[in-house]
Amino acid sequence: MAKNAWEKYDEKGIQEIFNFNEGYKKFISKCKTERECVVESIKIAEEHGFKNLEDVINSNETLKTGDKVYANNMGKGLALFVIGKEKMEKGLKILGAHIDSPRLDLKQNPLYEDADLALLDTHYYGGIKKYQWVTLPLALHGVVVKKDGTKINVVVGEDESDPVVGISDLLIHLAADQMDKKAGKVVEGEDLNVLIGSMPLKDEEKDAVKANILRILKEKYNFEEDDFLSAEIEVVPAGNARDYGLDRSMIMGYGQDDRVCAYTSLLALTEIKEAQDKTCVCLLVDKEEVGSIGATGMQSKFFENVVAEVMDRVGDYSEIKLRRCLTNSKMLSSDVSAAFDPNYPSVMEKKNTAFFGKGIVFNKYTGARGKGGCNDANAEYIAELRAMMEKHNVSFQTAELGKVDQGGGGTIAYILAQYNMEVIDCGVALQNMHAPWEVASKVDVFETKNGYVAFLKEA
Ligand code: MN
Ligand code: MN
Repeated sequence: MAKNAWEKYDEKGIQEIFNFNEGYKKFISKCKTERECVVESIKIAEEHGFKNLEDVINSNETLKTGDKVYANNMGKGLALFVIGKEKMEKGLKILGAHIDSPRLDLKQNPLYEDADLALLDTHYYGGIKKYQWVTLPLALHGVVVKKDGTKINVVVGEDESDPVVGISDLLIHLAADQMDKKAGKVVEGEDLNVLIGSMPLKDEEKDAVKANILRILKEKYNFEEDDFLSAEIEVVPAGNARDYGLDRSMIMGYGQDDRVCAYTSLLALTEIKEAQDKTCVCLLVDKEEVGSIGATGMQSKFFENVVAEVMDRVGDYSEIKLRRCLTNSKMLSSDVSAAFDPNYPSVMEKKNTAFFGKGIVFNKYTGARGKGGCNDANAEYIAELRAMMEKHNVSFQTAELGKVDQGGGGTIAYILAQYNMEVIDCGVALQNMHAPWEVASKVDVFETKNGYVAFLKEA
């Protein structure tokens, strides 16, 4: 079994790990929606000299070796490039992660009043254990787009002075029937209603509590009930990511699947100060948790189109060159893995499981029921990556998602593999995956970033 990665570091090294994770904690505390991730990632990228590809195209500029550009996909996805020395048809080095996370989305007509309480109806997004989302402080993050196109950003519940919202659970005293239910039915999807008010508007006859909430929305945010129709508001755990453990060796935070890989991929790309042989790419996508479909999911033609645009700007585009570029590419599909949990050892097989503190995790395959639906990375590619990690002194481990036939999961790996490129899943191991508060090891976050840098720097 791999050595514990903490042991590689002296005091100074440990300080460096902790410092890196401070940036990461800030990122996930601030970025709780895919849109917020894109805004913050663009900010980080621009600080490191990346330009907007759209501006490059509009001003008919060209791109050359060493140039840095990004393309924004509808504010929910991002592709960033550092142009390499070789022709792009020789292939790209791609780090790809997703920036959507499990949560509760407000329905289009969410607001109603019942028993002098105002509530918001939700439809959950991604795979969640519904019972985990009750009796927690929750926040509202999102946008409301008015008919004239004005976009209102909403964030309620993060500032210390903000109110929080939440979903109730039944008191144990009256839960006799509920406690006999299966866990999947204890709290049902349609009952994930967010309580947002209880004070009536004075002199209002009907639905006075709701009327008061509408008054507040109008006064504070300048939108009306109809505007929920064209809104995207996500209900997420309120509060910042925090150090976890008395030794502060871990981080507890919301949305670490997969923002831990998104952040480390982005930061790895910003560490590429000079052009490498290959063009280096960081791809941040939406919709992974619901099957990667839609214009902002990995299955969209966005990435392929953007690669074509970049090749065009470099002055070397043709259909056949684009195809060669994609097929000659190598990718790390950067996504989280399940960390061994001593509370639940029965679902893991210890020789092929990820552990906290053992570094970046490579998953040759994921899938379920006989590897169903998985991208099974080639042995030749894994050999290359092993050599790379060793050369750069990056701690790594290999794992699969639990015991055979225990369950399973998927990532964006298979979608990029359709271009016939080499792809492997790899990333950070988490405890509590998909729960409101997920846990990661700081040294794993650091090793993963270093693993990504090594991948980008080695030909
Ligand atoms: Mn994921
Ligand atoms: Mn997931």
